[in-house]
Amino acid sequence: MSFGIDDLPVRDELRGKSPYGAPQLDVPVRLNTNENPYPLPEALVDRIAERVREAARDLNRYPDRDAVELRTGLADYLTKTGSYRVGVENVWAANGSNEVIQQLLQTFGGPGRTAIGFEPSYSMHALIARGTGTGWISGPRNEDFTIDLAAAERWIAENKPDVVFVTTPNNPTGNAVPPETVLALYEAAQAAKPSMVIVDEAYIEFSHGDSLLPLLEGRPNLVVSRTMSKAFGAAGLRLGYLAAHPAVVDAVQLVRLPYHLSAVTQATALAALEHTDTLLGYVEQLKSERDRLVGELKALRCEVVESDANFVQFGRFADSHTAWQKILDQGVLVRDNGIPGWLRVSAGTPEENDAFLDAVRELMKEQS
Ligand code: PMP
Repeated sequence: MSFGIDDLPVRDELRGKSPYGAPQLDVPVRLNTNENPYPLPEALVDRIAERVREAARDLNRYPDRDAVELRTGLADYLTKTGSYRVGVENVWAANGSNEVIQQLLQTFGGPGRTAIGFEPSYSMHALIARGTGTGWISGPRNEDFTIDLAAAERWIAENKPDVVFVTTPNNPTGNAVPPETVLALYEAAQAAKPSMVIVDEAYIEFSHGDSLLPLLEGRPNLVVSRTMSKAFGAAGLRLGYLAAHPAVVDAVQLVRLPYHLSAVTQATALAALEHTDTLLGYVEQLKSERDRLVGELKALRCEVVESDANFVQFGRFADSHTAWQKILDQGVLVRDNGIPGWLRVSAGTPEENDAFLDAVRELMKEQS
């Protein structure tokens, strides 16, 4: 018998658990991890090379620990694209919004504390909670995947969590959470504890509605987290960030590793910010492809959750895993998140979406 994880003295709460693992299969059409299908424009690739070359000359030194130039660029981006002024003192950045969330849970969660999320939602919230020793409470949603506000308020009052996650637009379902619901959850969380409310806006640039950044005004226990992985088409860069009261930015610095953001990462992200307008142009194309997917899936007699993200949850299948496999057999990889009856597809290029729709057409013919 081979030596495995269970033979090691790993922490009890990690025993028998699986790591995050969206399949990385080599198939012609990959629409399973909500990536942006468009490669970075050549002009940006050149600019990244230039900026990284400059940074390389200083690689004998540690990078700017506080990433001030990058945080200033991110603050300017948020101010320019939203209706709320954000300053460098409001912004913190890390290696992907996963690391931002980890730092937030290290700061505000941890042993003896709990976090709540309304599931199904982004599975890493619960996994990062576990990794940081934070207890996890799986809060309720309605059948149509909206948050059941009355039940959520009750759960918050009863459980008094230290951290409340709200993902809008939600992953994997795609629906946005109305600002009034977020406000009511914030009020409930403050009355119960007070606790931190983390609004995960990884997909907000694809939304029909606006960012909830203006809600930060006068709400120091609110955090909005964002990423360059989706709208900026830079999942490989690993750059996430948050906007919040400056005290939150000070607090996460208690747990961040020194020099956590490499000089190469900072240089690359700054180059990407210089090309914001081109990159946001791709977002518009993806939004219209997303809307086309919703329309065509409905025409194929699928049920679809209205989407504000760059992906669409569709179903319902008697056996969603078999449906997933049949779509894969036609060379298209979508996501089975384990929600009975449902699958999720990321919006790709028009050609990729056509291939996906052809595969679903075949599948529906078989099922009828
Ligand atoms: N939040 C949500 C809701 C996500 O779906 C994802 C990525 N799938 C992330 C955060 C993490 O993104 P990243 O670490 O690439 O910024």
